[in-house]
Order: sequence, then C-alpha cells, then structure tokens
Amino acid sequence: MINGERLIERPLRWGMVGGGRTGQVGYKHRTGALRDGTYKLICGAFDLDAARGRDFGVKLGVEANRCYADYKELIAGETAREDGVEVVSIATPNFTHYEITKACLEAGLHVICEKPLFFTVEECDEVAKLAEEKGLIVGVTYGFTGHPLVHQMAAMVKKGMLGDIRIVDMQYTHGFNAGDDVGAGEALKWRTNPKTAGPTFVLGDIGTHLYYLSEVVLPHLKIERLLCDRKAFIPTRAPLEDHATVLMHYDNGARGRLWVSSVNAGNMGSQRYRFVGSKASIEWSDAHPDQLIYEVQGEPNRILHHGMPYLEEESLAVDRMGALHTEGLGDSWSNIYLWIAQAIDAKNRDDEAFLKTHHYPGIKAGTEGVRWLENCVRSADAGSAWVDFK
Ligand code: NAD
Repeated sequence: MINGERLIERPLRWGMVGGGRTGQVGYKHRTGALRDGTYKLICGAFDLDAARGRDFGVKLGVEANRCYADYKELIAGETAREDGVEVVSIATPNFTHYEITKACLEAGLHVICEKPLFFTVEECDEVAKLAEEKGLIVGVTYGFTGHPLVHQMAAMVKKGMLGDIRIVDMQYTHGFNAGDDVGAGEALKWRTNPKTAGPTFVLGDIGTHLYYLSEVVLPHLKIERLLCDRKAFIPTRAPLEDHATVLMHYDNGARGRLWVSSVNAGNMGSQRYRFVGSKASIEWSDAHPDQLIYEVQGEPNRILHHGMPYLEEESLAVDRMGALHTEGLGDSWSNIYLWIAQAIDAKNRDDEAFLKTHHYPGIKAGTEGVRWLENCVRSADAGSAWVDFK
C-alpha cells in the first residue's frame, strides 16, 4: 500500500512546459507529481501566452523569475543554475513533443512527456537513442494505468486465472465532439489539424490509452495483423478521424476489437476493457475503477473490490486509499508519477538492476503507441485493409 512516504531519497527538481491555466491536462500532472514528496515544482514555461503563464506559475507557488516565456528560456535559465531543474514534464499539443523532448535531453534533463509521444516511430527511435546515450529517462503519461485493478487484471492473466486469452474488447468513446467545429476552442482546433495533432485524432488522443493498458495486462500477446476503419463524421476534420474501429489478430490466435470515437453523442466517456480467456473473463471500466468484474464459466459472477485482501499482491502494493474508500484518476496519476520518479532516481544512481525489473511507462511504451498508430493509418489508407503489424 502506498501511504505518501517518500520512496526516493530527495524530491526531484521538476518543471513543466505547457499545462497552463487553460490547459486540459496540466492539473492531472500536478496532481500526480505533487502527491508523495517525490517532485518539487520549481519552474515552468506553462503557457503560449508568456504573461498568463507567469501569473499562473506564481499562483502555483513558483518564483516569478523561474516562470519562463518558452521552453528554450527555461532550459537556458535552469541549466545555468546549480539548483536547476532536473526533470521536465511536457503537456503541450502533440506537434511540440519531439522538439521539446529532444532539447531537454540534449540539455541533460529527464523528460516526462504526454502521449501520443511523437508523430513517427523513427522520431521515437532517435530520441530513445539520445536518452540512452545521455543516461536519461523519458516517461510517458498513460494516466489510466496506475489504477490498482489494472494491475490486478495483469496479475490474474499472468497466473493463468483466465486460461488462454481469446478475445480482447476495448472501447474509449465520448460525445463531446458530436457537433461541428464552429467556434471550437484551441484544444479541439489543434487536435483536428494533421500539422498539430499528427497522423490521427481519436486514435492517438484516446486509442493509445486502450492500447497501452492492453499491453500492461497482456504483455505476452503481440499483434500480428490489424485492420483499421476510420472516418470523420464532421467532414472538416478529415483526413483525421473522429471515429475508428480496429480489428486485431494476436500471435496466440486471439482476436481483438477496439472502438474509439468522440462523436458518440450523449456519452460522457466510456472507457471499457473486457479480456476473455478460455476459463474466465474480466471486465473493467474507468467509470468504476474500484470494481473488477470476474466471470468464471459455470460459476456465479463476482465483483472484486480494490484494496481487499483477496486481491493479488501486485494490486494491493499500489493501492492508496484502502477498500473502505474510493480510488480515482488522481490516485492513478500519482502512481504513474511515482514509478517514473523511481526510474529517474535509479538512473541517477546508475542502478540498472532496479531499472530492469521496475515497471513504468517509458520510451518503449511511447514508441509502441506510435507504432500502433502508424499501422492503423497504413491500414485505413489502404482502404481498411488487413496489414501485417510492423
Ligand atoms: P490544451 O490545448 O488544452 O493545453 C495546452 C497547454 O499548453 C496550454 O496551457 C497552452 O498554453 C500550452 N502550450 C501550447 N504550446 C506551448 C508551448 N510551445 N510552450 C509552452 N506551452 C505551450 O491541450 P491538452 O488537452 O492539455 O493536451 C496537451 C497534451 O496532453 C496533448 O499531447 C494531449 O494528447 C495530452 N493529453 C493527455 C491526457 C492523458 O490522459 N494523458 C489527457 C489530455 C491530454
């Protein structure tokens, strides 16, 4: 169980690029990072609007002279100080991730970056090499995979409690973009423009969460081929999609089905996973993160509750609130940030043995997300054809 005790020797000196006052995801980063004494927010280039960013940073408790106009100033200002920043989170639109990550790594700073990590696998490989050469960590904020019951699912699969995996069924949909984009805010504008979003809209925006979580639960399954059908129901969003379905064939013969959509009108957000094995199935949804449905063929269905002693050790180890109380998205993000902090701390100490077995979403997880997107786009562009996964 996690109780807030600091699990690394000292707090990491932390800064943010993006995630300003109007940003959607910035507070999730701060909620995650500032929970367990593992990070101290000392600087930021929080906003495209420098004055607003400075005002915001000061209200977060950052010294005014360490609220910078942009990431270049931040790197220059902080690397000139003895007590300068050592890890930077990037919570900006997709098209900026590659450039800012590279600049931070080149300056000797660890990075925690938003997903989808970059636009291409080639960029990911280049940055992975740079991080390796510099001895630095790149974490990726797949924020839903810190939930304790996600790790319960992984442990149950690993122990063979489901039998052989046959079906993977995943959905992440909402209806917030069901209308047209007239008067759309900045966050939707950049998401629907290939220059700023990259090669996908909802596949990258929400589909990568599904894909990574399935990798956490089913690390032994690899996709052999997939078929992606994508469509822009609001035509101005084309060539990017606001709706997609992906069929996947796994190397053990399992079949996968994934649905992502931001035009699921009336839906406030459904993120749902069902993993079906030869003996039993499990089903989990982020709307009810404290409960896991466990169905064994021929037996009464069960609902497993987070924090209960009957759960697997892997789940109990990352529980924060205990079974009497609810856990939520903030708790999940705190786990993600904690695991990345432990990775950074181990890297700083050259503790490669710890890193070998330590689980956290890193550059490989970010790269695999981008690889999955590349395959989806290749299939869709070929007229929704089956393509070998590469
Ligand atoms: P947003 O448009 O709501 O906010 C972007 C923020 O970054 C704003 O504060 C903006 O002023 C600032 N900004 C933009 N360019 C900048 C730059 N060059 N330098 C400094 N600041 C800059 O976007 P968002 O929805 O918060 O998304 C940001 C990133 O987070 C995207 O990559 C998105 O895919 C990702 N995201 C991830 C999750 C998750 O659950 N992990 C959730 C939402 C968004």
